[in-house]
Amino acid sequence: MIAPQSSPGSHPAPADDDGGHGVAKRRFLHDAAVSAGDEPRRGFIRRALAGYERTRDAQQARYRDYEQARDAASLAKWAAVNHLDELLPRFEAAFTANGGVVHWARDAAEARRIVLDLVHAAGAKAVIKSKCMTSEEIHLNAALEAEGYAVVESDLGEFIQQLRGEPPYHFVFPCMHVRRDEISALFSEHLGSQPTSDPEQLTMIARRHMRRLYVEADVGITGANFLVAETGQISITENEGNARLTAGLPRVHIAIAGIEKVIERVDDLAVLLPMLATAGTGQPLTCYNTLYAGPRRAGECDGPEEMHLVLLDNRRTMLLADAEQRDALHCIRCGACLNVCPIFKNVGGFTYGTTYQGPIGSVITPHLRGLAEWNHLSGASSLCGACSAACPVRIDIHHHLLHNRRNAARTAPDRRERFGHRVFAFVAARPWLFALAGRLGRLTLPLAKRLRPPLLREWLSSRDLPPAPRRSFRSQWRARRGA
Ligand code: SF4
Repeated sequence: MIAPQSSPGSHPAPADDDGGHGVAKRRFLHDAAVSAGDEPRRGFIRRALAGYERTRDAQQARYRDYEQARDAASLAKWAAVNHLDELLPRFEAAFTANGGVVHWARDAAEARRIVLDLVHAAGAKAVIKSKCMTSEEIHLNAALEAEGYAVVESDLGEFIQQLRGEPPYHFVFPCMHVRRDEISALFSEHLGSQPTSDPEQLTMIARRHMRRLYVEADVGITGANFLVAETGQISITENEGNARLTAGLPRVHIAIAGIEKVIERVDDLAVLLPMLATAGTGQPLTCYNTLYAGPRRAGECDGPEEMHLVLLDNRRTMLLADAEQRDALHCIRCGACLNVCPIFKNVGGFTYGTTYQGPIGSVITPHLRGLAEWNHLSGASSLCGACSAACPVRIDIHHHLLHNRRNAARTAPDRRERFGHRVFAFVAARPWLFALAGRLGRLTLPLAKRLRPPLLREWLSSRDLPPAPRRSFRSQWRARRGA
């Protein structure tokens, strides 16, 4: 069996240990500069996302009232997230009654330990996975491989990324940055297939390889889009049918989900599933929407013998305790905010260095991994608000980025920034000094352009200074009023 390694390639998966001391920020600035300079790749991403926007707009237009649907989806998530204390025990009771077992994990290390113990108890050799961002969050593949288990991703995009030794580029479209000819070369190298640029052929090559692995795997690991408290069911939505096979064919099914995935009623899916598909991929519904209600029962001919759910906190309860930003937990991971973000389009998914990229990743990562080390992500925004406008559950994403900036300034003020603001406030409060500073600025601007003083060097490395105006705004204003 070919067991591709998910161990670090050119873009290693983010580890629990962030390095500290501004390492993440330095890496971000470096990678952003490199990605922004890769014009062909940026053009490729821009074209792909322009296609997505056309499809999404056409799909939204088919709603009688899309804004009302957003209100309904937002309300369903608000009701769930604000009643997690009631809904999670309700879900656990119903899931247990269905024959499943719930495991609570405080953090990534505990979640990994639980999964490893379950895989070990199953006597497994091979593990097959469908798309599960929570497993990326806890770096599960590396942990399983370190203990000798062969792990294969069954989602096509994730499989391609696994072969490339890279984490997902985008949490909905994991390999959106990879061209067809690159996929063909990858399959030829790893699977021995003939080169082809036909997407259908490429899919068939992966499918043929995968089929055998479903049967050989002892454990199937999936994520979960929603957990229904009313019925104890897990809702998984997908386009390839691979999650169904991953959950249904191996002897043991393990699902991993964040605690915020719980919703109250099955009826809530009537709005959440179409909104997830419309905002995420521009489809009316994803191709496969399945509710899993426990392991195989007596008399049933298929399904796993055991079904487990690992419920992950990993600092989500800390975000829940923050009344101002709690609604970031409403996210249904549709990826729409990434698709419309001008920063994401230019710097790409890897630059963030996080499991969850783009605007929502920039909001939640400082909560999940520490504001001190990840605050720079809240600066990775033009605050244009395109993300908030695209969000199907109405998360005010760009305002949360501002909240993170404010919180960071309060908890760990940047001394240079603070000094700069004080100097500016002092100058701006004295009109004669402000005018003098303006005159000096106009005189020295051409020199600053040429000499690039250390204080401005970083800023000037990616920007052109405009030509200095001959006259100040004030003098122009006075002249105009006089005229
Ligand atoms: S924040 Fe909103 S738009 Fe972004 S992934 Fe989550 S649900 Fe989708």
